Amino acid sequence: MIIAITCVIAIVVLVFVLGVRPKDLPEPEPVSPFAHLDERKAAIYENLRDLQFEYRVGKLSDNDYQLTKKDLQKELAAVMAEVDRVKAQLLGSRPAVPTTPAPIPAQKAKAPAVDGFTCPHCDARFPQELKFCGECGKPMKAVRA
Ligand SMILES: [Zn+2]
Repeated sequence: MIIAITCVIAIVVLVFVLGVRPKDLPEPEPVSPFAHLDERKAAIYENLRDLQFEYRVGKLSDNDYQLTKKDLQKELAAVMAEVDRVKAQLLGSRPAVPTTPAPIPAQKAKAPAVDGFTCPHCDARFPQELKFCGECGKPMKAVRA
């Protein structure tokens, strides 16, 4: 019995040593594959904040600041790329989707005429309030309650 247990332990140890040397693991498989990347990202952001602060209070020279900032941004880019890579892996066969920012609606917010800057008759807009429209000459205040 003891021999059997010893054998089992020996085998387990052998398998462990041969099979799962921690440094050989390419990537631990965490519950969330992004957890450690998020941590790194947060750390870099914190460094950037500290850097900016030290620069503002005059502890860093312009040159040091720019160099360190560039390093940190490079590191950040690497982390982001890693995030993309992991994401692509998770999606399996699907190709990596480049993270394109949502298209910004190019709508020119048409302010309501109540601001007194937009002519209620011809819709001409002016940087400041006018009594009469510079385009059509009609009174612009009329609409205002
Ligand atoms: Zn007008």
